[in-house]
Amino acid sequence: MDLDINLYNTLSLKKEKFKPIKNKKIGLYTCGPTVYNFVHIGNIRTFIFEDILRRTFEYNGFKIKHIMNITDVGHLSSDADEGEDKMTLALKRENKPLTLKAMKEVADFYAERFKEDIKNLNIKMPSLMPKASEHIKEDIGIIKRLERKGFIYKTSDGIYFDVSKFKNYGKLGRQKKIASQKYSRININPEKKNPADFALWKFNDKLGWKSPWGEGFPGWHIECSAMSTKYLGQPFDVHTGGIDHIQVHHQNEIAQSEAAYENPLAHYWLHGAFLIVDQKKMAKSDGTFITLKDIKEKGFNPIAFRYLTLGTHYRKPLNFSWKSLESAQKSLEHLYNQLLTISNQPIDKNKIDKKFKENFLKAINDDLNIPQALALIQKLLKSKLKTDEYKLSTILDFDRVLGLKIKENIAPIKIPREVEELAKRRESLRKEKKWEEADHLRKKILELGYKIEDIKKGYILKRSEHMVR
Ligand code: AMP
Ligand code: ZN
Repeated sequence: MDLDINLYNTLSLKKEKFKPIKNKKIGLYTCGPTVYNFVHIGNIRTFIFEDILRRTFEYNGFKIKHIMNITDVGHLSSDADEGEDKMTLALKRENKPLTLKAMKEVADFYAERFKEDIKNLNIKMPSLMPKASEHIKEDIGIIKRLERKGFIYKTSDGIYFDVSKFKNYGKLGRQKKIASQKYSRININPEKKNPADFALWKFNDKLGWKSPWGEGFPGWHIECSAMSTKYLGQPFDVHTGGIDHIQVHHQNEIAQSEAAYENPLAHYWLHGAFLIVDQKKMAKSDGTFITLKDIKEKGFNPIAFRYLTLGTHYRKPLNFSWKSLESAQKSLEHLYNQLLTISNQPIDKNKIDKKFKENFLKAINDDLNIPQALALIQKLLKSKLKTDEYKLSTILDFDRVLGLKIKENIAPIKIPREVEELAKRRESLRKEKKWEEADHLRKKILELGYKIEDIKKGYILKRSEHMVR
């Protein structure tokens, strides 16, 4: 079954039919985290959207080369190239010496935590996660090209890209006006020729690398140009990130890469909307900066957070609250329970319902309409026309895209005879309306490491750590 994939492209501000550069192989570049701290659930929402995009391509039969960079150097604290480098700030916060070695230690620590988060959330590992600090040579290579072509100039604090020389500056999301307006108010660096000019290299004689222009470190944007081009070529197919990157970071990636190589950087640009917490932007000071660790510590399953984000289309803002996570977890458990009741069916690739699969494909290929795809699951489960065998095989097939770990959570478990007996006795007591005694047995079952859940057709026994597979 071949269906077109239509994706909203920030370059044209329209949904476009996806056409790959190579026949069945796609190059995907997603901006990765700056590893100066734990990632927060806003970042995670974007990483989940990108995972769904990748899985959608794979479900359609494409092979993916997915590159996600790790920013372990060079991300300044503001988009206007002002303020301190985020990694330097992390060294100060953690009372570490200002050396490249200490910087690497901090970066490696948070990069590892990030990889753990990825695993917990069932996000597929990118094909490669290159580090900015290991691509300084490639950064310098692009800056040299730009120098030869006359796009750069030097100030007392660094090497800058002259946006007035690149006639298409601001083409992403047609933000030409906005980009210059943004800086006209806060033109902090009087040496810049144009407010939107950005640093390619920042001088620093205490910390950094050698370059033809002086010691220092690369600007933030250049790393993504260097790594995407190195691993995917130019142009490549799809580039993604959160919407906050449209106006400056991605605009600047496009300017420097296209000026250097006289080729488009990427054909499709997709951006995920923000996650906000209690209607506010996430900030450390008011407790709205939430990480996956916080979610786990409160007893939630990371997949429940994944499920929560899937309920809102990626281009719509998502307001997070603990209540919404609670109900997402409940719905997810309900779904697992529904499937548990039919989990004794054989799983058979040939028993995938054609009509439902077609509708599922239509939904995901329509700019990743996952809320609509999720609704199909309940529709299928309620359908009287389909057999349990078809239901189970079809939903497991959908989970290749959704990544809700359905198979792991409905896998049969061996229940000890003692627990089975207790459960049966409890069921009889309930029928006799002897609630107190029944509840006593429920507690006994829990002490033995199992929990009992009542459903329409009786009960289900699970391991009590059921949710953390
Ligand atoms: P950063 O480490 O700041 O480069 O962010 C990593 C990714 O998370 C980027 O794609 C950002 O656009 C995205 N991002 C940052 N904040 C949020 C948020 N509140 N909601 C959704 N995505 C975000
Ligand atoms: Zn980037």
